[in-house]
Amino acid sequence: MIRVRDIKKDYYLGDTAIPVLSGISFDIPRGSFTAIVGASGSGKSTLMNILGCLDRMTSGTYLMDGEDVAGYSAKQFAYVRGVKIGFIFQGFNLINGMSAIENVALPLVYRGVAKKQRDFLAMSALEMVGLSDRINHKPSELSGGQQQRVAIARAIAAKPPIILADEPCGNLDSRAGAAVMGILREMNAAGRTIILITHDETAAGTADRILRISDGTMNN
Ligand code: ADP
Ligand code: MG
Repeated sequence: MIRVRDIKKDYYLGDTAIPVLSGISFDIPRGSFTAIVGASGSGKSTLMNILGCLDRMTSGTYLMDGEDVAGYSAKQFAYVRGVKIGFIFQGFNLINGMSAIENVALPLVYRGVAKKQRDFLAMSALEMVGLSDRINHKPSELSGGQQQRVAIARAIAAKPPIILADEPCGNLDSRAGAAVMGILREMNAAGRTIILITHDETAAGTADRILRISDGTMNN
């Protein structure tokens, strides 16, 4: 489903190129649960941004479903982000003025889903993460663990084939973190491809395979 070869990414400080990823290669099979593990600063979020079509690589090959992502237009990038991938971030990234169900339904608005179907999909997703009784709560009225479950519901509401999670348990205590990992496992059992990016070995142990990144390289 995903095949990357010799991916490189430089950031620029003025005219000086600072290499952050220096040649990364791996495959993510459809339906797999993969953890990408590395220390802080090793390039994990940079890699996630590239895999998620949030940023472009400097060089290398990225095939998604056999198509060369490097050649994609901004519009095609937006399509991949909106339809193929559900994102989960460490900081939840919920909108404070909106209720749980409004947050979950928001990406469906952008996808042109009709109101009734949006509410149905958002409700189903909130049920899946065990928050049926909190749908009208604002993020500030929810615990960190509950907020992350709302964010997961938002990521899965549109039923994207891939879930990309960057340190989803980073701001959670161990119990809430374990609940989030349990939900990711369920999503995987339901057929989704899960890519978990983390510095935490315990969380990574939930995955079926582990890829290790260190100083922008991978030895696997
Ligand atoms: P991780 O997620 O593993 O902690 P990051 O991918 O966030 O690592 O960062 C890898 C390296 O790239 C770090 O040294 C970081 O300072 C640098 N970096 C990240 N984003 C940028 C940016 N937008 N511009 C310049 N340097 C960056
Ligand atoms: Mg990071």
